[in-house]
Amino acid sequence: MFSALTPAVKDPILSQTLACLQDTRSRKLDLGVGVYRNEQGVTPVLQSVKMAESRLLDEQDSKAYVGMAGCERFNRVMMDLLLGDNSSLSRAVGVQTPGASGALRLLAEVIKIANPTAKIWTSDLSYANHAPIMKAAGLDVAYYPYFDPQTKMVNEVAMLATLSSLGKNDVVLLHGCCHNPTGADLSYSSWQTITDMANVQGFLPFIDMAYQGFGDGMEEDAAGFRYLAERVPDYLVASSCSKNFGLYRERTGLAVIASDTLQQSECIKSRIMECARSSYTMPPDHGAAIVRIILEDKVLKEYWLSEVTQMRQRIQQVRTSLVSALQHRTDSHQFDFIAQHKGMFSVIGATSDQVARLRESCGVYLVDGGRMNLAGLKESDVPFLADALSEVMVP
Ligand code: PMP
Repeated sequence: MFSALTPAVKDPILSQTLACLQDTRSRKLDLGVGVYRNEQGVTPVLQSVKMAESRLLDEQDSKAYVGMAGCERFNRVMMDLLLGDNSSLSRAVGVQTPGASGALRLLAEVIKIANPTAKIWTSDLSYANHAPIMKAAGLDVAYYPYFDPQTKMVNEVAMLATLSSLGKNDVVLLHGCCHNPTGADLSYSSWQTITDMANVQGFLPFIDMAYQGFGDGMEEDAAGFRYLAERVPDYLVASSCSKNFGLYRERTGLAVIASDTLQQSECIKSRIMECARSSYTMPPDHGAAIVRIILEDKVLKEYWLSEVTQMRQRIQQVRTSLVSALQHRTDSHQFDFIAQHKGMFSVIGATSDQVARLRESCGVYLVDGGRMNLAGLKESDVPFLADALSEVMVP
């Protein structure tokens, strides 16, 4: 059966992590893999999560199946987080999924069922798993211009020019905030323009919200998306609890579907649950139960928000420190964009050759294409990294 099978291509990010682990040099930095680490270099379990877990241990009286849409109370509080407190009044409905990855896949499948010739447009660059997930669901993938390698910001003119040619057969995948991998986010005015375009041209906005709270704040990070959600007839969202709740391995996420009417949204939801049924049947409960406990309890929610604020501020602080260390070493503003980027990552414009030199001569591991995980950087490692970058990247 399997004799002709060749191994899968190795995941480039995980291979880097492994290479860094095997590196015997005393000074080295793994800025590849996409997890938050604190000043001690640890990806912590949040205190709010620990508290919710201990409550869950006391209160849970059954492990019976929950249902294909997961826990509806989780779906409700997560939709409030995304859409604002009155989400129950909207025409949007939610389905709990195994991470945002699960949501991306199910939503892609339902698009394929609804319109087999739909084309999905993703940003150039984008999250490494976007295209594979969409292709696995059978969708055609195309790219719209996004990252400007010169300015290290969004090339909004080029992006909007491409989007202006799209129509009813197209789906536009947008990062809600904290763009992975580039760190360059859409401006509020671009969200407004895209909203107008979706309304006039009829393309479907599909938002990936994997880092809400890691950019400017929980509400601030949803502002552009909410502007759009209030104005377009249909939209989809894949949302993740991996980063902002630190629940990575618990596989906790949400798919949101909004169509013209609540009835239409419910119809799409039923097809999504059908897709889930023929795949994993229902999502894992533990992470969603934790999130529900936190978000339903005012005090615990405040505490969780303060923990997200701490993570966000640490990332912002480390970005600022790195920029000032680089200004000092290069006597230039070449790297100032790092402090303007949002969220965990920045694409710093290193060539493949420079990424290799950073790894081989300096022990600094970035993802190919030059994605750097700032959320994996300790303040105490900033001088070491600034030395390496200025040595390798400054002519
Ligand atoms: N979307 C983006 C943009 C991501 O960066 C990630 C993972 N880091 C995901 C989706 C998948 O997240 P999850 O762990 O919730 O599946």
